[in-house]
Amino acid sequence: MSDFVLKLENGIWYGVFPRLEVLNIVHGFTCRLHGQSDLVASELNMALHVGDNVQKVIANRKKVAMALGFDLNKVTTCAQVHGNNIALVTKKNVGSGATDYAQTIGSVDGLVTNLKQVPLMLFFADCVPLILADQQGDTIAVIHAGWRGSLGNIAAKAVEVMINNYGVQVEHIVAAIGPSIGPCCYEVDKSVWDAATRYHDCFVPTTPGHWLFNLWQINRKQLEAKGILAGNIMCANVCTFTNKELYFSYRAENGKTGRLAAIAYKK
Ligand SMILES: [Zn+2]
Repeated sequence: MSDFVLKLENGIWYGVFPRLEVLNIVHGFTCRLHGQSDLVASELNMALHVGDNVQKVIANRKKVAMALGFDLNKVTTCAQVHGNNIALVTKKNVGSGATDYAQTIGSVDGLVTNLKQVPLMLFFADCVPLILADQQGDTIAVIHAGWRGSLGNIAAKAVEVMINNYGVQVEHIVAAIGPSIGPCCYEVDKSVWDAATRYHDCFVPTTPGHWLFNLWQINRKQLEAKGILAGNIMCANVCTFTNKELYFSYRAENGKTGRLAAIAYKK
């Protein structure tokens, strides 16, 4: 079984991890094809915060909701500020930001819930989407880990929330690293290198003062350091920069692009 495969449903393409599907974790990492947008012509921009036409973004979300079989009104989103704070999604904040960006959960980069049928949805263009799930229960998390969040150990913080707030046993957690800028393309300068002193084994030098930074490796290391079994960590191994025809890439498109959504809920 391949870690990561593409699917076509309701006219849109998205990637899934078959191993999560068999756990009744409905999820997807949306491709950019076949949507509506004023920002990126006829593409599936999923984010409301990037200056696109609101009604078109909502139409794209409805199309994805049909494909993945969820109620758009229950979709819960967060503002994503490149920090390492995590919010718990409860009955009180279900649906935050589903169709109105003003209602999104502020100042956090990860959402955790144990409510069934509540899709957690975060937005990406090169940063790393992580889905974490309890193989023995209903708790799931979706995390936004760019370089700042990764250096802030946000993956480990999400695992701590799952353990401390939801009673999940760490050896039951399965983790999936979605499409994002890969170690082939993510060159950084000394400012990132200097901020990452604990993680220099995740860098490969290129030209003087520049390195390729492996965001997949740093997140894998942090998850393993928290006790997640190596065999329970999957990676799509899909670089958004290399595959910019299929996924939005902030860097490949000089910041003028849409966002893919990473969505997950327990059926
Ligand atoms: Zn690449």
